[in-house]
Amino acid sequence: MKNKYDVLVIGGGPAGAVAAKTAAESGLSACLIEKRPAIGAPVRCAEGIGREALCEFIDPHPRFISAEMTGAAIVAPDGFMMKLASSLAGNKVGFILDRKVFDRELVWKAAEAGADVFVKTRATSPVMEGPKVAGANVEFCGEKRTIKAEVVIAADGVESKFSRWCGIDTTVPVREIMSSAQYILTDIDIDPHVTVFYLGNEVAPEGYLWVFPKGDRAANVGIGISGKKSGTGHRAKDYLDKFVKNQFPEGKAIEFIVGGVSVCQPLPCTVADGLIIAGDAARVVDPLTGGGIYNGMFTGRLAAEVAAGCISSGNYTKQALLAYDAAWRTSAMGKTIARNYHIKEFLIRLSDEKLNDIIHSVAKIDLKEFSTLSLIKEITKANPKLLVDLGVLAASLR
Ligand SMILES: Cc1cc2nc3c(=O)[nH]c(=O)nc-3n(C[C@H](O)[C@H](O)[C@H](O)COP(=O)(O)OP(=O)(O)OC[C@H]3O[C@@H](n4cnc5c(N)ncnc54)[C@H](O)[C@@H]3O)c2cc1C
Repeated sequence: MKNKYDVLVIGGGPAGAVAAKTAAESGLSACLIEKRPAIGAPVRCAEGIGREALCEFIDPHPRFISAEMTGAAIVAPDGFMMKLASSLAGNKVGFILDRKVFDRELVWKAAEAGADVFVKTRATSPVMEGPKVAGANVEFCGEKRTIKAEVVIAADGVESKFSRWCGIDTTVPVREIMSSAQYILTDIDIDPHVTVFYLGNEVAPEGYLWVFPKGDRAANVGIGISGKKSGTGHRAKDYLDKFVKNQFPEGKAIEFIVGGVSVCQPLPCTVADGLIIAGDAARVVDPLTGGGIYNGMFTGRLAAEVAAGCISSGNYTKQALLAYDAAWRTSAMGKTIARNYHIKEFLIRLSDEKLNDIIHSVAKIDLKEFSTLSLIKEITKANPKLLVDLGVLAASLR
């Protein structure tokens, strides 16, 4: 471990790994530190990613793909199932990863590109030079060290502390933290190539429940519900257990995890002097789906690209690094987050009855090509009593 690098990346998840790889490929000296003793474990993820999204960063390989999805289905609160074929489901189809292997693969690629990688190495506080973040104090296998860097990329996940230590308010409102629980269930009857999403206040209040196949008779069966709800003694695990008991009474759980997903707006500013915040730490998870693997990799890559430009010009001020903030906000990813935040806020306020109406209406529409606004128009045509509710949503998206 050197005392000084061009870029120090905190966190060995998808955001950090891609940031370190991109930095090294840009000719920078890069160091990635991960507090856990092993990259990728424990997994706190349902592991779903769209085909195009994955391929933008890495070629799919059986080593880290658990299952390939060709369709998706949504189950309304009244039990009606709307199927989306692969031609339609677009980004919804793709892969269920094996993140224990996938995350390692990404970090491996960063190491191959020339980045130094240290596990069991926790950032404990920032090194400040006046207002500039100039590195991190770390505990490296129990030993205290200081690593200085021109730019620090904080990719330390949803529980990110590093940015807060640097003075940035990263608080997520309780209602916008999805409290999640998930089993890997085996020996269950499923369609091994279709992801299924269950909606409704009885099943998953202000959230959804998912069945993501991991093989012929195994799946990630999990749930995310509003932290507001789980704070009142209605735990995500209780809803999940109820569902599993009804749906998969014979299933055998071989893994159980809990975790949080932020479904809030991204941080108002994702840079400071000498600091870039990427991935879950920047709250760039898709607020509608809770998906953050792609967004993590996207912002990780962008963070390193902007850092490289700033390092070559010797300017690491917040002003210079703001190019990163502006670039992801105006990207397709940033626009999707902004749009999906409004859709999420709309959906969580709907009664089960209205949710049923919408899903039944959508199922009747020929959805060959659609934008969100044209879909809203079609649903309203099919079901005029939703005009007021959907009108409000459409206005928020314009
Ligand atoms: C139950 C659940 C299901 C999900 N399902 C999906 C899904 O199906 N599809 C999808 O796209 N997304 C899903 N997500 C979200 C997805 O897991 C995250 O968005 C993604 O992992 C974000 O990547 P990241 O690199 O930003 O953060 P992380 O993957 O969380 O990586 C951050 C890393 O930083 C390390 N770290 C933290 N603090 C320090 C420190 N001080 N020093 C050193 N290292 C530190 C952590 O140990 C961690 O390894 C799910 C999340 C949950 C909880």
